[in-house]
Formats: sequence, structure tokens, C-alpha cells
Amino acid sequence: MKIFCIGRNYVDHAKELNNPVPSEPLIFMKPPTALVVNSKPFFYPDFTQDLHYEGEIVLRVCKNGRAVQPEFAHRYYDAVAFGIDFTARDLQDKLKQKGHPWEIAKGFDRSAPLSKWIPLTELPNPQDIHFQLKKNGQVVQDGHTRDLIFPFDTLVVHISRYFTLQKGDLIFTGTPAGVGPVQIGDVLEGEIEGRGMLVCAVK
Ligand code: ZN
Repeated sequence: MKIFCIGRNYVDHAKELNNPVPSEPLIFMKPPTALVVNSKPFFYPDFTQDLHYEGEIVLRVCKNGRAVQPEFAHRYYDAVAFGIDFTARDLQDKLKQKGHPWEIAKGFDRSAPLSKWIPLTELPNPQDIHFQLKKNGQVVQDGHTRDLIFPFDTLVVHISRYFTLQKGDLIFTGTPAGVGPVQIGDVLEGEIEGRGMLVCAVK
């Protein structure tokens, strides 16, 4: 199982980190050991002093495919979940400055809490999904998939040019503006279309 992640896929978020808006999707990956399911707690790692949350809509890949054509892309995912792309921002900033890969800042153990799935039969228009992340009860991120720079179908087309998609792969589709730090004791809650999906306590 592969976990693809997309960086800078909302204009407001690219700007808040002073990054240019990309001309094609920016792809990175996390290993399967990054996943945390069933709203289990997250343990603040000892190698960072600046851990950030990034709340994201995650796609579930439902069939194998490579070099998927745009008109068929929607057939390759069948459900969405709420995911958090935890990022050790201090490590990532150092690696970015050196032009190095940022895996240790993004793909470390438990860096990807993931909610249960909502089948797309219940959310028939993937371009019209509202989602929010709350930290200790306050809304810190408020996103809408119509604001994606690269919509879901474009991501499927682009990823599958380089990597064979396999049933069960995940795609973290990027975070809207409002990313920020977490501290031990914080509780993050993710919602999709008003449905409570994910609770993540930082311990
Ligand atoms: Zn992210």
C-alpha cells in the first residue's frame, strides 16, 4: 500500500508558507507505518520542536491503473476520509533550504492519522466537499474542495504517469490555509460536511 501526499494544492496555503503556487502537482509519499487509525492518540516526537497539523481530504484508490486518462480518472477512487499530514516544520525547513528530500519531516511513524471512510455514493460531487479542522474546539482550518489547484481527477492522472495505482493506495490531497503548531494536550477534530470524522489527541 502506498500513501501519496500532495503539497501546496490550495493557493491560500502555498502563500501562507511563502511558497510559489506550483504549475504541476507536488508529490511526496509516506510509508504505511505513518498511518494511525481508529482515532488512536498521537505521541509528540522527540526530534521536533515545531510540529504542525495539516488537515486534508484523503482519497481511497479502488482499482489498479497506470497512465490513467482524464475521462476515466473518477473511476479510480470511491471514498474520502479526513486525514492529518503531521509535519515537523523545523526539520522540513532545514531540509528545504538544503534542497534535500523531506521524508523524515513528513513520513515518520504515526504522522498520518486517518478517519473512517465516507463512500462517494454519499458525497456524489467530489468538487463540492466542505471540511474543517478544529483544535481544542476552535476552527483552525476551513477548506472546500472547489478551491483545489489540482482537482482529484488531475491528481489521479498525474500520479499514475509515474506510479502504478493499486487498490488500497491513499492520496492525501493537500491542506488549505490555517496550518499551525500543536502542543502536548491539544485535541484535533476533523469534520467532513459537518460530520465528525476524526479525533486526534496529542500526548
Ligand atoms: Zn500536507
